[in-house]
Amino acid sequence: MTKPVDEITTSYSEISTWRRCQYQHWLAYRHRYTPLQVKPALERGIGWDHVMNLHYEGLQAAQREGAKPIDRLEHPAFKMFARRIEAELQDDPDALESQRELKDLLRWMYAGYVERWGPDAKWEILEVQKRMVAPLTTIETPDRILQINLKVYIDLLVREQGRGSRGRVWVVDAKSTTALGRRDLGFNDQSGLYQWMVANHGLLDVPIFGAIFSYALARKNKVKHQPLAERFKREPYGATDRELDEIANDAIESAWQANSRNLDWQPPRSPDDEMCRRRCDFLDACLAHRKGHDLAKFLRRTDHEVPDWHTPRLEGIDQFS
Ligand code: SF4
Repeated sequence: MTKPVDEITTSYSEISTWRRCQYQHWLAYRHRYTPLQVKPALERGIGWDHVMNLHYEGLQAAQREGAKPIDRLEHPAFKMFARRIEAELQDDPDALESQRELKDLLRWMYAGYVERWGPDAKWEILEVQKRMVAPLTTIETPDRILQINLKVYIDLLVREQGRGSRGRVWVVDAKSTTALGRRDLGFNDQSGLYQWMVANHGLLDVPIFGAIFSYALARKNKVKHQPLAERFKREPYGATDRELDEIANDAIESAWQANSRNLDWQPPRSPDDEMCRRRCDFLDACLAHRKGHDLAKFLRRTDHEVPDWHTPRLEGIDQFS
């Protein structure tokens, strides 16, 4: 008899939330509780991603029109995107103060970025904002098959070009940050997992060599001059095939664990008196629930959307294992 196949789709951010705090994952991904207000750091990250996407779409458009790499910023095809960025970041005196400050910060970051990296003449732009979904793993139980898919988001894919280039292909991860300190890039599993997916599912026509982490400082010093070298930094990291396999194995196990219990199973919290406030949208609800308050009512009163439309994507996988 052919077994029925169930499918769920996960994301790296879901896997990462599960690893950080299972209770947070249970609220955000299994019950789909959603804060109505976005945290400022997340808003800044989303804004910077958007600006970067427009910037590289512009460079790619100029490249398609045959502009020389060094002249791409001057090409009319790029200028169209540059005008859009300018319009979107323009100050609006009627907007909320927080919005005005965010736009001011993004304007400063973008002007510095263009000054620091110019037309990125040593990169051929291959893909901007590539979105794909592919199977991460398939699990067979006595009576069913479960396919776990992964969303793969590649914001920028480039190939080295020009004299002395080795033609290697890199995923570029543009990040805004409040500190350009040292990072242990070997533990940035998101890019590694996407590389593994691309290699194992033939998602792109080209093999990826590694990831370039492109950091932009999002902290403006109103008094002191900040040289460009202290505001922008790029660091490459090429993981070995063995590393990529291990990253994928860990992700598969986490994705399975995160979705293999019934919805009414309440997982343990991972409380941390320093990190919870910074990393979680459910701090007050988490505490209130622990004190015995009704969770759904509390979330509704504290500006969270409590979906009545939600049907769990699978009511626990262990029930049919
Ligand atoms: S407040 Fe802390 S313990 Fe509670 S859900 Fe958030 S991360 Fe987990």
